[in-house]
Amino acid sequence: MRDKLFDELVESIQESGAIRRDTLMNECVGCGRYILNPEGPPEADILIVGEAPSQYDIKDGRLWIGDFGDLLRAELRKQGIIYKNCRVTNMWLHPKDKECDFEKFHIDAVLREMTDRPVVLLLGAEAVKYFTGYGVSEVSGLRVDTLPPREGRLIPDGTGMVFALFNPAIVLHEKLGELRFGLQKFAEALDGID
Ligand SMILES: [Zn+2]
Repeated sequence: MRDKLFDELVESIQESGAIRRDTLMNECVGCGRYILNPEGPPEADILIVGEAPSQYDIKDGRLWIGDFGDLLRAELRKQGIIYKNCRVTNMWLHPKDKECDFEKFHIDAVLREMTDRPVVLLLGAEAVKYFTGYGVSEVSGLRVDTLPPREGRLIPDGTGMVFALFNPAIVLHEKLGELRFGLQKFAEALDGID
């Protein structure tokens, strides 16, 4: 059952396309499916944007559950970056679903998170392509905000450094070296902006 607050939120999103960053909802306004909201300190310097929560994430109610998450946390830590100090979200707040055509709801939520964020780490082909216009294989391990803007680029004004990287889910068996190298480059870029 949807309560009044939820209905008001839906209305405000539909009217203005904007709700506050700290406003939490539990259902997708497009299809009513359970969603996973961003995690981590709202004002964290680093925002990690993945592609979509897995079924394991949904079951557990947390993001980056399982081997891929463990790998991501371990590899970040090797570079001196503590996962739980980062803000974390996905471009889809529920598993990607053709029946939910309310893409704007999901993307708006990410754009709110990106706005005025000093550092954004985009993980995976879909997120990198969607927000930067570049293919992930072209820019994995690179800072994208300083590259020539591509058509379709969707990065809010006020967002600081934007970094692109393969999704750990893809690299688990084959490309660990590339992931590690990319995160090393990310850490170096972070040092550069301190
Ligand atoms: Zn939906």
